[in-house]
Amino acid sequence: MASQSESSTTSQSVDPDLSSVDPEVLVEQVRPLVHLDTLENLLNHARANSLWPLTFGLACCAIEMMAVGASRFDLDRIGAGVFRPSARQADVMILAGTISRKMGPVIKTLWDQMPSPKWAIAMGGCTIDGGPFKYPGQYAIIEGADRIIPVDVYVPGCPPRPEALFAGILKLKEKIKAGETGYRRNPA
Ligand code: SF4
Repeated sequence: MASQSESSTTSQSVDPDLSSVDPEVLVEQVRPLVHLDTLENLLNHARANSLWPLTFGLACCAIEMMAVGASRFDLDRIGAGVFRPSARQADVMILAGTISRKMGPVIKTLWDQMPSPKWAIAMGGCTIDGGPFKYPGQYAIIEGADRIIPVDVYVPGCPPRPEALFAGILKLKEKIKAGETGYRRNPA
């Protein structure tokens, strides 16, 4: 008998007729339970959590980049550990090392081969502005990766520690989720 009385009390407390409920009150009650978003934001969330870097290094900074992909730092924890051997399968270019003038056109070709949307990280002083090889009259290097391709995140250092590159990739993820990356989908 006790259980029947409990169930009748419960059924009395639920009002199946929602027409008697103020719609604004109902919306406020449901809002924390339902998250509506745009398709672009959902796609950006997926993109940020499945970054595939290009297997590609230019000089000494690339050793630190290799370390960040290994077990001690483990990029797989944030979905960015699948380094791809083909530009056509990658969506992040980590520019790690000195950019010689001979390598400039090669980098541009690899970047153009990467499918959109795509992002770039400039790792180390050399790729940011020439680093220790920048001096008046030098003719061998390109003084900054952003003279060739659009760069989304800069990671300073000579070389940056693996933790710094890890932080740079986390920063890139934040920017992708917020839709704040430098890559223009519809270039003029
Ligand atoms: S920034 Fe330093 S460590 Fe990195 S490629 Fe240049 S010289 Fe080498």
